Amino acid sequence: MKKAAIIGAGLGGLSASIYLSIKGWDVDVYEAQFFPGGKAAEEYLDGYRFDIGPSLVTMPWVFADVFKAAGKNINEELTLIKLKEICTYYLSDGTHLKALSDLEDFGDELEKIHEGSQESLIEYLKEAKKAYKLGGELFLTKPIHETRTLLKLSTLSKLIRFAGIHPLSTLNKINSKFFKDARLVQLFNRYATYNGSDPYQTPATMLIIPFVEYDGGGYGIKEGIYEIPKRLHKAAEELGVKFYFGEKVMKINKEKKKIIGITLNSGFKDYDVVISDADVLYTYEELLELPDAKKARRYRKLEPSSSGIVFYWGINRTFEELSVNNIFFSSNYPAEFQAIFENKTMPKEPTVYVNITSKLTPSDAPKDCENWFVLLNAPADENQDWDFLVSNARKATIKLLSKRLGVDIKSHIVTEGVLTPPDIERRTSSTHGSLYGISSNTTKAAFLRHRNRSKEITGLYFCGGSAHPGGGMPLVILSGKICAELVEKYSGD
Ligand SMILES: Cc1cc2nc3c(=O)[nH]c(=O)nc-3n(C[C@H](O)[C@H](O)[C@H](O)COP(=O)(O)OP(=O)(O)OC[C@H]3O[C@@H](n4cnc5c(N)ncnc54)[C@H](O)[C@@H]3O)c2cc1C
Repeated sequence: MKKAAIIGAGLGGLSASIYLSIKGWDVDVYEAQFFPGGKAAEEYLDGYRFDIGPSLVTMPWVFADVFKAAGKNINEELTLIKLKEICTYYLSDGTHLKALSDLEDFGDELEKIHEGSQESLIEYLKEAKKAYKLGGELFLTKPIHETRTLLKLSTLSKLIRFAGIHPLSTLNKINSKFFKDARLVQLFNRYATYNGSDPYQTPATMLIIPFVEYDGGGYGIKEGIYEIPKRLHKAAEELGVKFYFGEKVMKINKEKKKIIGITLNSGFKDYDVVISDADVLYTYEELLELPDAKKARRYRKLEPSSSGIVFYWGINRTFEELSVNNIFFSSNYPAEFQAIFENKTMPKEPTVYVNITSKLTPSDAPKDCENWFVLLNAPADENQDWDFLVSNARKATIKLLSKRLGVDIKSHIVTEGVLTPPDIERRTSSTHGSLYGISSNTTKAAFLRHRNRSKEITGLYFCGGSAHPGGGMPLVILSGKICAELVEKYSGD
């Protein structure tokens, strides 16, 4: 049996461990923390339960597939709840609407804001579907950097046509073409943040993101998002994968450009293959000790995706008007992204996302209370004065929420946790604390993510948010699957 070591039990690493184990490999997973999940962790604060990172599940088929590969039925592992109200949007002028999973009803909601928007939605989603079918699907599921993949003419032509969709346009421009009301353009611009990008720069092809949400639905998990890595960990263990928690990998060992194993605090262990679910740049700089490798130098120049500041608030009352997911828009969206990506600071007036899982799972908060996960987009960490930025952001958030809800929110916060970009880097080794690897602020970015198989070092593979196809739960699970397929193809004999 060939032996593989996986560095990191994030969702990408867990997925790779399952897909590789079922191919007959002997798989060991090393995780620096004492639990699986990486960014998808959980915490309890004074009787309130919080998912630390991801809050919304999209592309449910990706999750179903990985459980199925492990011999499990997702519906026996998790209770997926398709959200009828995907999100309640508080628009910048104080009006609000609900993004409903029933598209006719959602169209009615849009129509109330601006006449003709129902028709715009239908046309917009048709265009988005075209982009997804043309190349989006293939881009997400195939190792696009492999010559063998590109040599398939149908694949290559699809990718070229995909990259060529509205080539010089941005998400904002295409949204403005379809929606005539600035408030609705802002709503659809928001999807750029799903991969940590700027709607005024990210290419129009990103309209595949709203497509997957409105076509496949947005889901919550009754047991909490953290149940996903917990169950995948258990399923992998049942397949024979061995997990070592609290075991930081110190070094990836190679000889003549070929992987020979890894070094732990306790010493060297030999492996035929190493898959890194840790950040690509961190892997080059710290684990391979190759900070000057061409790939590392190239990666360092790429713009990181945005990061986030999260407040975890225990709220001592309920808000019937809110849904599981809620967005409170700022009045100047361009200024917000300029602050984050150009000035690398927090916007004066942030857009605020509030996720409340106790709406689905009342036991996540004490009786008649709610657990608020409050996320603000933030710049990647470059040693800013985070104490100052967090304190200002907290004040701005409370001001915005209090104004929009007509309630002094501060007086209802009974317990609080905070996550900052440096915390994200410290917890998961994500360079600059970015949430999704590199940003997608250029057309090229999609192709500049690190390949899943190293061409320079035989036996080295990459999964997770900083590798192809990028960040977000479904994408990192797909990256783990792509990695396992490549390992089998290139290191199987
Ligand atoms: C606040 C926040 C909100 C988000 N919201 C969403 C959302 O709503 N929907 C969505 O789909 N996605 C969301 N995401 C993104 C999603 O969480 C990530 O893209 C995904 O979970 C990353 O998985 P990964 O495989 O890249 O590994 P990570 O989660 O980055 O984990 C990597 C693991 O590797 C371990 N590791 C690193 N170095 C070593 C070493 N040397 N030795 C051993 N172990 C090591 C780390 O401890 C960590 O556990 C969000 C993320 C955050 C932080």
